[in-house]
Amino acid sequence: MSQIVAVVGRPNVGKSTLFNKLIGDRVSIVNNEPGVTRDRLYREVKWLDKKFTLVDTGGLEPRNNEFMMSKIREQAKVAIDEANVIIFVVDGKVGITGLDEEIAEILRKKDKKVIVAVNKIDNYMKEKDNILEFYALGFYDVVAISAEHKVNLGDMLDLVVEKF
Ligand code: GDP
Ligand code: MG
Repeated sequence: MSQIVAVVGRPNVGKSTLFNKLIGDRVSIVNNEPGVTRDRLYREVKWLDKKFTLVDTGGLEPRNNEFMMSKIREQAKVAIDEANVIIFVVDGKVGITGLDEEIAEILRKKDKKVIVAVNKIDNYMKEKDNILEFYALGFYDVVAISAEHKVNLGDMLDLVVEKF
């Protein structure tokens, strides 16, 4: 059975961008407005000698905020339940938000293997300290990435496959 790796996080952190870069294809819709990923997407990914199924959990993200929040929670929960490893994407330019903390709490309760991918660290030398605050989310593995510029994705994938 293929290992399932879910990309989880609040809207607009770069989940679909990351998903697309990792599968080397543009199947997931990227947009700077929250609310564009319609379904969960599954694709096979190979890293070194390891194969796994990657899931983009943008999910239903309607505009109404209350509804959106509950849908994100719902989607995240489904994805979390079926996943062996979670890539928890956060925004390294924005910092920790309330919704990040909510998702972190769900992940901690489910006792899943989690890698925190601090995205949008486009300039590593300048922005690497931005990742420090994310240790407060309570996970051991925190890695700086830039999905858009494909920075550190290899290091992130090393952490992912080492948890299988
Ligand atoms: P999602 O809602 O989490 O799936 O986020 P998207 O992948 O749709 O991206 C949301 C926005 O963040 C888009 O405008 C992306 O271009 C932007 N974005 C994604 N990755 C990066 C990155 O590494 N650096 C920067 N600066 N922007 C990014
Ligand atoms: Mg998306």
